[in-house]
Amino acid sequence: MATVTENLHSALHTRHRAVLPDWLATYYARPIELTHGEGRHVWDAEGRRYLDFFGGILTTMTAHALPEVSAAVAEQAGKILHSSTLYLSHQAVELAERIARLSGIPDARVFFTTSGTEANDTALLLATAYRRSNQILALRNSYHGRSFTSIGVTGNSAWSPTSLSPLQTLYVHGGVRTRGPYARLSDAEFTAACVEDLEDMLGQAGGTVAALIAEPVQGVGGFTSGPDGLLAAFKRVLDRHGILWITDEVQTGWGRTGDNFWGWQAHGQAGPPDILTFAKGVGNGLSMGGVVARAEVMNCLNANSISTFGGSPVTTAGALANLTYLVDHDLQGNARRVGGLLKSRLDAIGAGLGIVREVRGRGLMLGVELVEPGTDTPSAAAASLVLEAAREHGVLIGKGGRSGNALRIAPPLSLTVAEAEEGAAAIEAALRQAQTALEERSAAPQAGRSVL
Ligand code: PMP
Repeated sequence: MATVTENLHSALHTRHRAVLPDWLATYYARPIELTHGEGRHVWDAEGRRYLDFFGGILTTMTAHALPEVSAAVAEQAGKILHSSTLYLSHQAVELAERIARLSGIPDARVFFTTSGTEANDTALLLATAYRRSNQILALRNSYHGRSFTSIGVTGNSAWSPTSLSPLQTLYVHGGVRTRGPYARLSDAEFTAACVEDLEDMLGQAGGTVAALIAEPVQGVGGFTSGPDGLLAAFKRVLDRHGILWITDEVQTGWGRTGDNFWGWQAHGQAGPPDILTFAKGVGNGLSMGGVVARAEVMNCLNANSISTFGGSPVTTAGALANLTYLVDHDLQGNARRVGGLLKSRLDAIGAGLGIVREVRGRGLMLGVELVEPGTDTPSAAAASLVLEAAREHGVLIGKGGRSGNALRIAPPLSLTVAEAEEGAAAIEAALRQAQTALEERSAAPQAGRSVL
């Protein structure tokens, strides 16, 4: 019989479904509410504790309830919540100075927004205004947000609810290394083929192309990427045409990938990007995003533009405290070390399971691609089963990928070795459970039953 606390979630879910949009997906057959967190752990409304390996979509970057961030937010909230971009803000200036320095973009200007979508929207506005063109290059399998412009550069129809767009978008290869027409090529051949595809596309485009927008590691796309240096090879082509490079660092920024502070730095051989967008982790959950661009590009708009909420006193105070903690504690280094360990554990687990096609990613941005056991057929059912089972084993993970068949593992960057081991063991148990369920299901038709 269901207990009183178990009813909390189902009662809330009923109310949720009655008043929120149908297309607003939630995880789990029985969705949960997270009511509080500490470090790398969260608790749900029914009192269950979980290791958080998804961080609210890679957003809880340092830790839950980090005292430094909570104190900065509380202190600022006690002074003034809001003023708008019409007034000076010493926190906004200080945060912009720090991000400009960190960005690697020379003569950088920073504009704060309230989300990644709005950051990309602004980047697209800047690029199209600067280049006087609405033609944009984007990668297949990309995700750049939910606004009318950003879904227009999102190369995944599952996340692009309309084909109407103010932009003309040209999709090129390069985001997915191990599927698609170039999958069997070596890294060097893959890069050469993608460059050839880009040049072919530019030959067909006619007129001016404004920019290429790309995630260095595709997030919603299932933590996939081309080989290191691919975007540098693209940039050499773009530079010949004066086309801008927008790097979408909404998921890959702030040391998440371990090896680099920004994802673009794995592709930095031809110089820095022209425009960088960020969000998610910088605010550790506060509604904070932004755009960095060289001054010439940022200043190209010839009309006013404001953001009422962008760079608010509270979000910038919290982000400053969060960034300070991240840098002072070298969480990028921790992501590299602990992420490396977690990846080797997942590699070993995956090697013994027919359900796992590939373990990929870097730092604390690790993807596990799942298939029907022993085949190469993507299995979204497997990902759903593993997600549910991992929750039962006390770990929250995410999923994604073109076919919804990739697990996304992205804990806060302060993850400890013991937590990585504990999480890996839970994920292993969940994978084994899902594999058994799928094997039973494929044996089931003769028996006339379904276990799903
Ligand atoms: N770009 C990327 C790479 C993202 O992953 C996301 C969000 N998942 C966005 C942009 C949009 O950010 P937001 O949801 O904050 O609008």
